[in-house]
Amino acid sequence: MTRTDSTMQALVLHAVGDARLEAVARPTPGDGAVLVRVGYCGVCGSDIPRTFVKGTYSFPTICGHEFAGTIETCGGGVEGWSAGDRVTVFPLIWCGKCPPCEQGSYAQCHKYDYLGSRSDGAFAQYVVAPARNLLSVPEGVSLQEAAMTEPAAVALHALRRTGGALVGQSVAVWGAGPIGLMVAQWARAMGASQILLFDVVAKKIEFARSLGFENVIDSRQHDPVEAIESATQGQGADVCVEAAGVPVTMIQALKAVRSSGEVVLLGNPAADVTLPAPLISTAMRREVNIRGTWNSRYSFTGDGDDWHAALKAMASKAIDLKGLITHEVALEGAFGAMQMMKENSEFYCKVLIRAN
Ligand SMILES: [Zn+2]
Ligand SMILES: [Zn+2]
Repeated sequence: MTRTDSTMQALVLHAVGDARLEAVARPTPGDGAVLVRVGYCGVCGSDIPRTFVKGTYSFPTICGHEFAGTIETCGGGVEGWSAGDRVTVFPLIWCGKCPPCEQGSYAQCHKYDYLGSRSDGAFAQYVVAPARNLLSVPEGVSLQEAAMTEPAAVALHALRRTGGALVGQSVAVWGAGPIGLMVAQWARAMGASQILLFDVVAKKIEFARSLGFENVIDSRQHDPVEAIESATQGQGADVCVEAAGVPVTMIQALKAVRSSGEVVLLGNPAADVTLPAPLISTAMRREVNIRGTWNSRYSFTGDGDDWHAALKAMASKAIDLKGLITHEVALEGAFGAMQMMKENSEFYCKVLIRAN
């Protein structure tokens, strides 16, 4: 492996299913941007279909949007940041000109760029990012943890869509993957009195229990709607978070929510859902609030957004994401790890790539 100052190692996606570890030109930061030496980059669930099924917007691309590292160099006009600073990066590059951007809703930007899908991301030793997308990693938070800020922010955003007043509430979560487990951790940190997690994979159920969640239920053995009814004296859950994305779980979430409760749609839908008319009637009569959630809210001034909140919660240990890491591989092993995820050949929760 050759490495000079002008090249770097990167996992380059050339076509669907064709990713190769190569020496490529190390990018240089333009005005207002920095070069980040990547410490760790998480493999997102979305990176698997992106790599093996759908492809990226153009080829070749370097994927990877969940990362943290240290600033190597700053481009022109960058103020407030210097080489050696530990950072994580909001990977969505907003246009700044459309109506949602005007309101700070960058995830809704009409004309955005994205590190790791539309532009080169962090399955590489280095990546260029705009300085306005940087967040400082607080002391006591490792780069491994900071690399999970993106999914943690997504999970927090989902719960904040309900208004976020979870003290004493019952929260049911379908899907015990990394995002579902992070939702459950946030619910605990936000004061929920009851957290019920549902999955159908024995290893995931076991893993969730090992993280200290008591009510982790195998949906194949116990009907989630009945489990929630008996746990809530027949009232239903205050908040139902659908993080599995399959029709049956969406129907269960709608059935199990209490009057005036909240159903949050978080899982990417795997198929069409047919809602029985009586269920729609019940949801109407109960005045159920159905919320969509998308990505996360970021503010570069750090004004109560999901990203800065996630880093603060990691620093204060209100949430602990380290326990979610099941695999840590070098760049050389990254594609193999992604194949393992695609084929489900091993149990995994969060898979991190060590980039340097
Ligand atoms: Zn992601
Ligand atoms: Zn915009």
